[in-house]
Amino acid sequence: MTQSLSITVETTSQKKAKPPQDQLGFGIHFTDHMFMMDYSVEQEWHNARIIPYQPLVLDPAAKVFHYGQTIFEGLKAYKSADGSIRLFRPQDNFARMNRSNDRMSVPELDIDKAVEALERLIEVDADWIPTEPGTSLYIRPYVIATQATLGVAPSENYHFIIIMSPVGAYYPEGMNPVKIYVESQFVRAMVGGVGEAKTAGNYAAALKSQQIAKEQGYTQVLWLDGAEHKYIEEVGSMNVFFKIGGKVVTPVLNGSILAGITRSSVIQLLTHWGITVEERRLSIDEIYEAAEQGLLEEAFGTGTAAVISPIGEVNWGGQKLVIGEGRTGELTNKLYDTLTGIQYGTIEDPFGWTREVGAGKAESVR
Ligand SMILES: *Cc1c(COP(=O)(O)O)cnc(C)c1O
Repeated sequence: MTQSLSITVETTSQKKAKPPQDQLGFGIHFTDHMFMMDYSVEQEWHNARIIPYQPLVLDPAAKVFHYGQTIFEGLKAYKSADGSIRLFRPQDNFARMNRSNDRMSVPELDIDKAVEALERLIEVDADWIPTEPGTSLYIRPYVIATQATLGVAPSENYHFIIIMSPVGAYYPEGMNPVKIYVESQFVRAMVGGVGEAKTAGNYAAALKSQQIAKEQGYTQVLWLDGAEHKYIEEVGSMNVFFKIGGKVVTPVLNGSILAGITRSSVIQLLTHWGITVEERRLSIDEIYEAAEQGLLEEAFGTGTAAVISPIGEVNWGGQKLVIGEGRTGELTNKLYDTLTGIQYGTIEDPFGWTREVGAGKAESVR
């Protein structure tokens, strides 16, 4: 059995007022506490603590500011009607965090201890989890390199931090298909680069295209591969799926695409339902050809924030393509209802994906 993590807890005496649940937005408000742990070469990960939410004090030379040695994760906690709190596949998030860490030369974390730290933090701030339909607590674990030297080398010091934000329903007025701009000039990542790591630079590099897309009335960018600008990669911070002639096709994880946990859940669900899923190279031409032949039925993005995001239109170099008459497809809807049902505990979880916070408590000595 892994040894229980020793976490010191300092609670705040000044609790913040909670925002109204219909005005939460995304990542705007933060809970009263945060988790923090430090790394040094001598002590490795140490000083695990839950403290009042507060600013960080960092040396201006801290490596994270100069060389971007930082990685993050994103997951959610859901409160159900009976007051129980669920996490969705949290071990998978921390396993992915370690893969990002490895790529970015950041020391790895103990997955079970990270989950334990997260559960303790959630228990301390449990009254921050909103309960209105579609709302949840968004969780942002991240690691930053803090060594205060300007040499380009892996840092010898890090902070691992978890902050949490109550977030509103992604679709307060029901699911709305989004319009997607296919980026054919800039690229997000290259095979051999850091596209499969959840590291800050990938998102900074995407901002310019996102701005251009917004100016033209599109909500998200669809990325093509870095070498040929031909093969579909992903959409913004979501993986992407197309239903073509009864089968579902999604780009194969080739090293430049983020391995989404929602993506993996969708593949498992579809397979469970007996629907063929192909993970392979998928060119943007194939999508337009399938549409011409009347075979393109649905398209959607997958990610923790939106869960499932229907795609109603794509624009590739001025060629507009309306998918499913711009309406949310049947399978897209079913995936959304099933996944969110499992997450909120309103439908059975045959895959063992959810983990109830505090459920293991009775067995462990605290
Ligand atoms: C986080 C992320 C995803 C989605 O991953 P989930 O685990 O499903 O939330 C997809 N693409 C990118 C680029 C991401 O950063």
